[in-house]
Amino acid sequence: MNKKLRKAIIAGNWKMNNTPAQTKKTINELKPLVEKCKKCEIVLCVPFVDIQNAVKAAKDTNIKIGAQNVHFAEKGAYTGEISAQMLLECGVEYVIIGHSERRQYFGETDETVNKRVLAALNAGLKVILCVGEVLTEREQDVTSEVVSRQTKIALLGVDKKMLKNVVIAYEPVWAIGTGKVATADQADEVCGIIRNVLAEKYGAKAAEGTTIQYGGSMNAQNSAELLAKVNVDGGLIGGASLKPADFAQIVKNAQ
Ligand code: PEP
Repeated sequence: MNKKLRKAIIAGNWKMNNTPAQTKKTINELKPLVEKCKKCEIVLCVPFVDIQNAVKAAKDTNIKIGAQNVHFAEKGAYTGEISAQMLLECGVEYVIIGHSERRQYFGETDETVNKRVLAALNAGLKVILCVGEVLTEREQDVTSEVVSRQTKIALLGVDKKMLKNVVIAYEPVWAIGTGKVATADQADEVCGIIRNVLAEKYGAKAAEGTTIQYGGSMNAQNSAELLAKVNVDGGLIGGASLKPADFAQIVKNAQ
């Protein structure tokens, strides 16, 4: 197992936080703190209405901009939705798909996650695919089955070449926004299970080359231990990504 084969990626998920004006201010604060961080890819996934200001503020820097969702249709009568092409034209490079908050509150299923993954990849976006178990599933010892099923269904129709544009975020739902963090060993174990699912489908080399992040209350203090694990190649960060100094510290810990 060789961590050096894959890119470390730290992505912030701002969720429904920051107005366009606050976006400009926050990114301008973050820029000098991470400008020397060349070994780790830095992504900020912002609300749709913040994309324009985020792209402008991050221009000519090492910060890439992502969205938090995308619709699976190319265009049409889907009031309130945003297509992959629209995101691309706005300068978006990454999109989060299947976040547990979308599964929990907005009816996202493994099947709709798969449709969104295909639409995003076919359009040329990079995908951060979220998988993770809820607390009862962990307590019932079915974490492995749950994340394996979510990963397999999400990647139906995704071939080896397309996999290069997929990052997987293992996010135990019980750890998101709760302050409860998975132990570094728990995170490593499940990221390893996901890597085995990838190896079965795409072969060991492709699995070894895929970035798998941990997400769930990762912060400036606990990130070094989590990121040191062999199967944890980065983080998807919610709350701590809203504070430039904390987010920058996590990026430094990933280098
Ligand atoms: C997330 O939203 O993906 C997340 C991990 O949130 P938090 O870091 O706040 O738990």
